[in-house]
Amino acid sequence: MSDTRTVLVTGGTLGIGKGIARVFAKNGYNVVITARNAEKGAVVEQELKAFGRGDVMFVPGDVTSLDSMKAAVAATVEKFGGLDVLCANAGMFPSAKLDDMTEQDWDDIFDVNVKGMLFSIQAASEQLKKSKAGRIVITSSITGPITGLPGWAHYGATKSAQLGFMRTAAIEYAPFGITVNAVLPGNIYTEGLADLGEAYLKTMTSSIPMKRLGDVEDIGVAALFFAQENAGYITSQSLVVDGGQVLPETLEAVDA
Ligand code: NAP
Repeated sequence: MSDTRTVLVTGGTLGIGKGIARVFAKNGYNVVITARNAEKGAVVEQELKAFGRGDVMFVPGDVTSLDSMKAAVAATVEKFGGLDVLCANAGMFPSAKLDDMTEQDWDDIFDVNVKGMLFSIQAASEQLKKSKAGRIVITSSITGPITGLPGWAHYGATKSAQLGFMRTAAIEYAPFGITVNAVLPGNIYTEGLADLGEAYLKTMTSSIPMKRLGDVEDIGVAALFFAQENAGYITSQSLVVDGGQVLPETLEAVDA
């Protein structure tokens, strides 16, 4: 096995996952991205190759299927000889007010955001145990663990569930030298967030002390920090990356 470390980023073809993949590529990792849309994956694979000092590969994968995630890990091992870092990032964030929320809405979001995280970790754990510095980085959110947002109660529940899961996962994997940490993004400018509309983006920006939405690479930098070989004594920690969004006690405090 070469000394180049290998990362697998779920949901690595768009938004935050693509930003995470880009930061790891720039920092010399072999990067594997996985998502369902293979056509898009092939395009992003080529895009990322331009940034990388290591190699980049797209593998189709659906986090709601354990077999699919096992196949993605097997393809990773076949190409790069192992796996050192899993970024369990794939997620969805549809909105539904509580009184309109259906059982299907609830099940769908838990399937992708929580069960998908579990399956990604289960598929990767055998290889992470073989790494000399196995790392798991979960993309959670400020929504749920810290803040509330009307329309996203089910989403917030999944993002808090990820942190509850992380605390026990960190203990179970500690004997193998594997750390499990989470990045909690605030409002990060992605293709998906842009779909929420100009008014939403303007309101969000004005509530952030840094007066800008986050960039996807802001999250990549935080994930890279947890992934470092020499970060092995940091586990079960949550790193908020939100431009100070959760800090002000009042709306006026942002502009005071
Ligand atoms: P996004 O732009 O919608 O991208 C989602 C990615 O996940 C895509 O690559 C998508 O590709 C993939 N994906 C979706 N369902 C999947 C599945 N079942 N299996 C495999 N891949 C799947 O989302 P994002 O905004 O970057 O969000 C990424 C993560 O950050 C999520 O966990 C989200 O909760 C979290 N987050 C985002 C923000 C934000 O401001 N954007 C803030 C806080 C937290 P395919 O559709 O091709 O599968």
